[in-house]
Amino acid sequence: MVLNKIHPTTFLKSSKNLQNAYRLLSGKSPQKVAFNWEDPLNLESQLKEEEKLIRDQFRNYCQEKLMPRIVKANRHEIFHREIMEEIGEMGVLGCTIQGYDCAGASNIAYGLLTREVEKVDSAYRSAVSVQSSLAMGAIYMYGSEEQKQQYLPLMAKGQLIGCFGLTEPNYGSDIGNMETKAKYDSASKMYTLNGSKTWITNSPVADILIVWARCEDGKIRGFIINRKEHGDGLSTPKIEGKFSLRASMTGMILMDNVKVPEDHLLPNVQGMSGPFGCLNNARYGIAWGALGAAESCLSIARQYTLERHQFKRPLAQTQLMQKKFADMITDICLGLMGCYQVGRLKDKNLHTPEMICLLKRNNAGKALDIARTARDMLGGNGIQDEYHIIRHVMNLEAVNTYEGTHDVHALILGRAITGLSAF
Ligand SMILES: Cc1cc2nc3c(=O)[nH]c(=O)nc-3n(C[C@H](O)[C@H](O)[C@H](O)COP(=O)(O)OP(=O)(O)OC[C@H]3O[C@@H](n4cnc5c(N)ncnc54)[C@H](O)[C@@H]3O)c2cc1C
Repeated sequence: MVLNKIHPTTFLKSSKNLQNAYRLLSGKSPQKVAFNWEDPLNLESQLKEEEKLIRDQFRNYCQEKLMPRIVKANRHEIFHREIMEEIGEMGVLGCTIQGYDCAGASNIAYGLLTREVEKVDSAYRSAVSVQSSLAMGAIYMYGSEEQKQQYLPLMAKGQLIGCFGLTEPNYGSDIGNMETKAKYDSASKMYTLNGSKTWITNSPVADILIVWARCEDGKIRGFIINRKEHGDGLSTPKIEGKFSLRASMTGMILMDNVKVPEDHLLPNVQGMSGPFGCLNNARYGIAWGALGAAESCLSIARQYTLERHQFKRPLAQTQLMQKKFADMITDICLGLMGCYQVGRLKDKNLHTPEMICLLKRNNAGKALDIARTARDMLGGNGIQDEYHIIRHVMNLEAVNTYEGTHDVHALILGRAITGLSAF
């Protein structure tokens, strides 16, 4: 067949001719591509082999070891400390860090891992995010070489648990006005910390507390409080009555003249760029993770509505249910492709904080909508924890709020669009 002797319109009318042309030009047979509702835009095709391998190993662990524990842990507010060591052994904690016994994985791999763990529960993902991006991240990005050597390998193994104290009772979104103070004494070479932090993930069980405080020159700096060595004047009460992320402990950090030696100041950052740099990385993980929770809700609702018959047909065979599923997979796959794009940019250091705000805001908000919709699709069973969805709904309420609320991320994006700050 000679291609250029045939009129293009006539030629293209026949799909058989298209296939022949493909075969002639490429030397290959055309592939039959099937649509996969679990991966509608074929994200899988973009992943590197090593990223898939890390993800698949961790997926098995999450489904086999975490999933059986979560219903009771959530019902009775149990944080299984040993989970941190198990996850650490798998190389997941601080996995993007180079050296210090960390895996040095790509940002895509990190995102895939947070997605897998949050398919089980956002509380476990919160523990991974805080340990990896906030606590280890602060030490890795801003710490001295001695601090990195001392803390990162043990934190990577989950033998030391970290937390990140930024939010205060009087300042949440408006954290630039924080009240916690650090005063330096040159004679003893010690800082004295006074103030309180609240809503701090893992604070009741943390060995290493990264605390942000205002120094006498008015600048914000980060401190490493090692509970064993600097515990005088420190208390970390648990916040009771929390109906979200119940398998993760959340508490306060109360500091009454806590003494921290100067070699436990994070030397390489000052100002709000310090905590915000860590939050950027954590929010990136949340953007992937929240969609993992949404994927779980979708797949539970799909199975349930296929099996449940009302009005002589499966619920899944109704137009209303199918529209809900179509909306869900659309939001999930577009969100994941966004994460993928920013992850690859992040590996090349070509990302911006606004990109991550956009993803965190969109994906956490969409995941919450999806979970609420899926809850409704299960009728009464939707509020029973054995069906898991109500747990995701409750968790995603906090995910939508922490690390910058949905609306505050809108203000950050609004400032980038208009050049005018509304906050
Ligand atoms: C379970 C959980 C775990 C957490 N873990 C940590 C942690 O490990 N470390 C840490 O430091 N913090 C943590 N946080 C705190 C979290 O980051 C804060 O809750 C969050 O930043 C919001 O602050 P806030 O709760 O004080 O709300 P506020 O800032 O008081 O906001 C209340 C409402 O006002 C809105 N709002 C605020 N400003 C404006 C504005 N200018 N215009 C319009 N609306 C506005 C917000 O969107 C929100 O709807 C955690 C929170 C939760 C719930």
